[in-house]
Formats: sequence, structure tokens, C-alpha cells
Amino acid sequence: MTIPRFADIILPLAVKGRFTYRIPYDILETVKPGVIVKVQFGRKNLYSGIVSNIHDNSPALKNVKSILEVLTAVPIINDKQLKLWLWISEYYLCSEGEVMKAALPSEISLKNYRPRLETFIELARKFSDDELNVILDKLTKAPRQQDVLSTYIRLSGYTYGSEIMPIRKSLLLSEAHSSPNIIEALAGKGILSDVSLAVSRLTESDSYKESIKELSEAQSITYRSITSQFMEKDIVLLHGVTSSGKTEIYIHLIEEQLKKGKQVLYMLPEIALTTQIILRLKKHFGAVTGVYHSRFSDAEKVEIWKRVADNDPVIGYRIILGVRSSVFLPFSNLGLIIVDEEHDGSYKQHDPAPRYHARDSAIMLAALHKAKTILGSASPSVESYNNAVNGKYGLTELKERFGLIKLPAIVIANTREAYRKKLMVSHFTPELLQAIDEALGKDEQIILFQNRRGFSPYIECSECGWIPVCIQCAVNLTYHKGISKLLCHYCGYTTDVPSKCGNCHSGGVVTRGFGTEKIEDEIKIVFPAARVARMDQDTTRNKNSFNKIIRAFEESRIDILIGTQMISKGLDFENLTVVGVLNADNLLNYPDFRSHERSFQLMEQVSGRAGRRQKQGKVVIQTSDPANKIIRLVLRHDYVSMFRMQAEERITFNYPPFCRMVKISIRHKERTLLNYYSDILGRDLKEIFGKRVLGPEAPVISQVQLWYIKTILIKIEREKPPAKAKQLIVEAIERLEKEKGASSLKIAIDVDPY
Ligand code: ADP
Ligand code: ZN
Ligand code: ZN
Repeated sequence: MTIPRFADIILPLAVKGRFTYRIPYDILETVKPGVIVKVQFGRKNLYSGIVSNIHDNSPALKNVKSILEVLTAVPIINDKQLKLWLWISEYYLCSEGEVMKAALPSEISLKNYRPRLETFIELARKFSDDELNVILDKLTKAPRQQDVLSTYIRLSGYTYGSEIMPIRKSLLLSEAHSSPNIIEALAGKGILSDVSLAVSRLTESDSYKESIKELSEAQSITYRSITSQFMEKDIVLLHGVTSSGKTEIYIHLIEEQLKKGKQVLYMLPEIALTTQIILRLKKHFGAVTGVYHSRFSDAEKVEIWKRVADNDPVIGYRIILGVRSSVFLPFSNLGLIIVDEEHDGSYKQHDPAPRYHARDSAIMLAALHKAKTILGSASPSVESYNNAVNGKYGLTELKERFGLIKLPAIVIANTREAYRKKLMVSHFTPELLQAIDEALGKDEQIILFQNRRGFSPYIECSECGWIPVCIQCAVNLTYHKGISKLLCHYCGYTTDVPSKCGNCHSGGVVTRGFGTEKIEDEIKIVFPAARVARMDQDTTRNKNSFNKIIRAFEESRIDILIGTQMISKGLDFENLTVVGVLNADNLLNYPDFRSHERSFQLMEQVSGRAGRRQKQGKVVIQTSDPANKIIRLVLRHDYVSMFRMQAEERITFNYPPFCRMVKISIRHKERTLLNYYSDILGRDLKEIFGKRVLGPEAPVISQVQLWYIKTILIKIEREKPPAKAKQLIVEAIERLEKEKGASSLKIAIDVDPY
């Protein structure tokens, strides 16, 4: 008698649900949860899918298709990963297939994965010391062969009776200044032989180990506070001012986990930050430390994936330093997750689905492993601090910088007044110029922050006010001087810079506002002797460009570094004393309920780069609104007042964390049809949720890539579990999708939008 067996399979599709397939008898043994299989879906499409579970419940459907082939001998995804995928799909209202697409390197089936092979040279067999001496003597007549053999012996560290160590052929040739035919001659005599070995695609640093730094007294108190709070709580928020030594505390926590044989995930919001921290970790923990982010090739990602899955004490990774997507790695044995700069918006994925928050998903992942989570920040998110104040998370505060160096002194420079008195030089106030000048005089370094890349955010006809806009999006085109083009930052559209106005044909087209590129140009004019560099999306397209710029700054080959938010967080430079914020106004005036919180965090972070070692740093913030309440709080580094103010506001106006939010964005290529359909959905939702529905309305950018956009926001009470409300929202969308013509709409749901 044959037992009917079925497998539920996750396919990389945006369609909700798992798909049931029959398991053919001959592969019954190999189909297990977590293996990748090939199946047919629809008429003729073939897909690789992941087996999620196996059962005997014959589906109602007739003609259940069979699995065609098993693509991996062993499970690639473990049960904790499958649980995380399911949680993400349910919480963020997407399909497990969409999570799968975000989680897996595309070549993970390992069928296409080929280890990189390299030729090594080794002794043809084990020789005794005497034998080797005889051979070397005989080779006196063939000095080049003798040289290669003795070089081999030196390189391999050969000692009597030890293992025969293979040496890279390329290394042997270059060290012995020899050629392949000499090695061939030795092989012909049965002395050497070659062997093909798999090598890593990942460059390994030397795995020398330095013992970890002893904690200061304040740091020790914080460390003990964290470990004791972990006895009762799974999550602890470490609120420590910039340069208080949070990273050193993490290093101590990591060491404790390694001693227990556990894995650690250390998350950072941005690739640029991994560059410095990875060196700090490898210095102490050596080769068990790996990095994961999107700049790796697919084959490299597969290799990292394998090393995380592998529990091998030598080649297995125990510590992963990674950005958002590292929550998807195949950890088997996590003891701790560190989410550094936990307030950072980059942890949230906007597009495509899954629109997940990596911090919140990490907390879920930790729970699945019964591991602990530490959230760290100098300016925590209102959400996390609120959880800490309420006792849901533990809280520990570290208020002094390491070495008792004072937090940087903040100078507010009034641009409005400086313009009126004609004191501005280009976009620089006298206060900023003086600070830069003083620092340069002492061979100290400077960072200038401007959150816009390109030369100027728009160009304009000075005669009639005409501004060139993107042909596909409702945004102004940014002028990039280096490539001499106008560029859309939303869709990538580029066009030539017009020499005449597109409206009145006058020649008076001028640049307006400023981005990093313009600041770079102008600072070079003001300080011609200074060495200036820029770090933004445009200068860091290559894989190693972050590394190069950061290294050059560390080695004092750059005096002034200009950059976007990339340079604002986490970096640690010894000789950096002055930070300039060129325009705080455009941070503060962004229309979003989080903009005040965000601008406080950004200014606090970027200030935190200054004066981290010997002496107090200086920060100059340029603004036309010096009385702004957020600026006043930055001046005093007063996080707690910022939190209280924001919390009060959000309670009054009912915003997160005091409610939950779901954002629906609807797109259509026809404006009138978009209005028609979004109104239907709006009315439907209002019948269910009443006044908790805001919109539909056009967002700040109301058209991208020819698609018009409208958004609807739904606020859900905190007190009730959100699943029911989310279900009602999904059903309303499904009703809209059944309307005639609605298939030409694009609808996206964003849970906890950021
Ligand atoms: P944070 O992560 O809070 O910004 P870091 O851990 O980067 O702070 O510390 C700031 C600087 O002070 C770093 O260069 C770090 O190596 C140094 N530092 C911090 N704590 C210690 C310590 N206990 N012993 C030696 N150096 C320390
Ligand atoms: Zn565009
Ligand atoms: Zn004009």
C-alpha cells in the first residue's frame, strides 16, 4: 500500500498562501521541510520553491501536480527561518513568497554554486628529513629546481613528521621567482604534485587576536546592568551618548556569547558603517566574523550563507555584522542580536514587499532562538524609548563619553542674519568658516553634512520662473555638474542641461539651492590648500569605495569630507574635531510626523562624530530659524526632553507609538481613474474604520515613473491585537480588486510605515 504524501510549498510569487504538491514515491525520502524543489505552476511556468511542511491531507483540488525534482540534497532553510518568514508575511501583509525573494540569494539552490578552485602544490608523498636532504643534495645540479623545492619547504612551514601543507601555486612561483615548467620537472621526479582545492571568494584578513579592551567604570556598570536585566527581560535598550563606548560594550557581550558557543547577529543600518566595525571585531574575534550586505555578488552571498549555516568551529561564522537583510541568514544557534543605531529609518524596507522593519523582525528572530536583543542608540526611536519607559524593555543609560571627553559644543549660526548683513561666503556662515579655518590650522579634520546629493536640487529660469521637471515623475530635476546632466532622483531619468529656458527661451537659467557636489566645489575655492573629498551615493558606486574614502580620512589624507547621511552615523575618527551642518532647515521642514524626531537624531548623530578622542569637538549648525525648539534641544544634547515633547504631541494627535498605522498606496497611470478607484476604497474603509481613515490624498511626490499615486492611512488602536483590523483592510482591498478595470491598479500595503 502506498501512503499519499503531500508537500506545501512556498513559491516566489506575490500570491498569498502555500501551494500543495504530491510527492512522487521515488523522492519521498529526500523531500523534507527546507529543501528546494522544482515544480510547475500554471500552464507552463517552472519555479524553484521551498518545502514548508509535509502531510497526508489530500487537497480538495483534483489533479494535484507532482514535485518534478528535488534541487538540494539537504534543507537550505531551517524551521526558525520558516517561522520568521511566516511571521513577516502575516505581520506585514505580504506573501511568504515575497519574503523568500528578499531572503534568498538567487543562486542559493546551490545547484549552480561552484566553489572557486585554485591549484596548490604539495609534496608528492611524505618524506623523512633524511630523504629530503638527499633530494636537495641531488638537485644541486638543477639549481632552479632546488630553489623551488627549498622555497616550498620554507613556505609550508614543513617540519619533521608534520602534515604536508599545500601551498598556492601562484604564491610558490612568485616567491621562488620561478616558472611552471620547473614545478613540472619536480613533479616528473615524484617530488612535488599539484592538487585543486576549493578556496574562499571572501578576502580573509589576518586572524591575529588582540584581547578585548577593559571597560571603564561607567561602562562596567552599564554592562552589568544589561546582563542583570537580561535575567528578566529579553530586550534591553542601551541609550548611550555618542562615543560612550557602546561598541566596546557590545564586544564584551559578544565574547560572552562565543564562550557559550552561541552565534551573534550585529546589525547596522548602513553598509558604510560596516567598514570600520568589521575591523574592530576581527581584531578580537578573527575569522569567525563575517559581513553580509547587498554589495556582495551572488556567489559570495551563497558562501556567507553556507558559513553561517555551518557549525564548523573553524570555517563557520559565529558573528555576523550585517544590514537589514542579515535577519534572513540561516542561524541555528543565536544567543544575542545587537541592533545598533536602532532608531535609524534605513532598517525599514520601503519597496518592494516585504515592507519589513529589520529591528522588529530581529526581535522576532531572537524570540524564536530564545536569544536576547540589545537595541543601542544615542538618540533612540520614540517607539523603543516608550517601550523602555513602560517597562516592556529594559533600559540602561550611559551618559558620559569614554575618557570623560565632553560632548561637542554646538554653535548655532543664523543664515538669515548672515545673508542680510552680507557676511555669507557662498553657503558658509562666518562661524562655520572660522571653525574650519582653526581646525585646518591645527591639522585637524572636518566633516560637512548636507542631506542632498548633486550640485543643486533644481535649476530655474530667472526671467519667468520655469523649472525643469522629470518627464515621468512629479519632481524637479537635480543638476549634477560632474556629469553635466539633470537627473531624477526617483526614477533615474537623465537629460542634458538646457542652455535656454524651456518656456520663454531666455538664456537666464540659473542653479538654485545646493547639494554635496556644490559644497565640494565651493569649499575648494574658499580653502584652496585643503584636501577635500566627498562621500555620497554618487561617489560610492563601487564595492570598495566606502573603504577607500574612510581609510583615506583615517590616515589624514583628507582634510575636509563632505557627505550625506552616510557620514552622519557610527563612524569613529581620531582627528576629527569640527562638524558643520549646512542646512538644518530642510531637515526640520519635511512634512512628516517623525520629521522633528528624525532631525534631532540626525543632528545628534552627526555631531557625535566630532571630538571623540583627545578633546571636545565643535559643531556648527546653520539655520534660518535659530529659535526652533528642536535646534534648542540639540544645543543641550537633551534627548529626554525631545522624547517627552514628541510623546505628548503624538498622544494628542494619535500617532505611533500610541496607535498603529497601515498605509495603502494606490497607483494608476490615469489620474481620473486613480481618483475614482481610490475614492471607492476610501469610502469602503471609512464604513469600517470611520474617522480612523485619513485620505485618500496625493503624497508629496504624487507621480513616479508615470504612475499617479494616492495614499490612505489607517490608524489602529494599540490596545487590541492588530490581526483583525489588518484582515478587514485586506478584505477591503480584495473587494476593490474585484471592481471592473481594477486590474490596472497597483496597490501596496505598508504596515508601520516609516
Ligand atoms: P560609541 O559606539 O558609543 O559611539 P565607541 O565604542 O566607538 O563609542 O567608543 C569611542 C572611542 O573610544 C573608540 O575609539 C573606542 O575604541 C574608544 N573606547 C571606548 N571605550 C574604551 C575602553 N574601555 N578602552 C579603550 N578605548 C575605548
Ligand atoms: Zn523621474
Ligand atoms: Zn523663462
